Amino acid sequence: MKCSLSQQPERFLEEAITLFVSESEANRLTMIDGSPMFDEPLVGFADADDPIFSDYKTIIGGFHWRPRDLLEHYAGDEGYEGDLTHISVICWIIPIARETIKSNAEQTRFPSLRWAHTRDAGEKFNVLLRQHIVGLLGDEGLLAIAPMDSRFFQMIMDERVGWASSWSERHAMYAAGLGTFSLNDALITPRGIAHRCGSVVVNMKLKPTPRTYENFRANCLFYNSGTCGDCIERCPAGALSEEGHDKSKCSIYVYQQCIEGLREEYKIDVTTGCGLCQAGVPCSRRIPKRPSTAKGG
Ligand code: SF4
Ligand code: SF4
Repeated sequence: MKCSLSQQPERFLEEAITLFVSESEANRLTMIDGSPMFDEPLVGFADADDPIFSDYKTIIGGFHWRPRDLLEHYAGDEGYEGDLTHISVICWIIPIARETIKSNAEQTRFPSLRWAHTRDAGEKFNVLLRQHIVGLLGDEGLLAIAPMDSRFFQMIMDERVGWASSWSERHAMYAAGLGTFSLNDALITPRGIAHRCGSVVVNMKLKPTPRTYENFRANCLFYNSGTCGDCIERCPAGALSEEGHDKSKCSIYVYQQCIEGLREEYKIDVTTGCGLCQAGVPCSRRIPKRPSTAKGG
């Protein structure tokens, strides 16, 4: 039996996202073998008035949008006069297919061809997924926006944190109970670290997904038990160390050397992350099990 948005909104949205991922032709590696780029998604929800979004203004910077502020600005621009009492954030993780992770785990300098295409075509698919959900909610008379693909999204050079964005998908995922941060600055979810993620802000009440983790780094072995560090060894750019992720070294490697390497090796012209630190590591496809002697994070 199909559920409705008004009666079971969380289930309706989860089914809509899952169906789009499983059925969309855009979720296919057509340039290789036509197999799906992403496996079944994980979906979570956050209340826009959760104090964590105000905390992000301190943690990330004053330029980071609170979802309520963002939707209210958007409503003002659009002349929308509907009810903005309840605002929620819909979040999803789309895990990268096993075969693609396996192919990247075999690489030592540049990403595999599957990974490179998944990063490029996969984000185009993720944009379509955001548009699909925004459209679906719009059809119900709601006001919805995907911050990442909107005019509210900006990259900012901040004195304290370096390059940062006015909306962080990973921080939205954390707020929606979907995962915690890792040594390499990514998000370890129950389906692992190798994924894309997306969010939509909407004026409706959705039951928030509980954050069951004990702290913001709880899923990473380096922080919860002082072990692992495998991603440090995997990084060809020397951008990872026990101090964490050197964003500047990483982006020079990814946006200069990687692009040139892919042109030479595969004769393709795509902007892609390297993702070597997300494949061939214990957190690639799951939350890694802590050693039995480990203390809580
Ligand atoms: S490889 Fe190990 S240290 Fe690196 S992010 Fe994954 S769990 Fe953490
Ligand atoms: S994306 Fe590549 S360059 Fe950046 S930290 Fe990971 S392995 Fe290193």
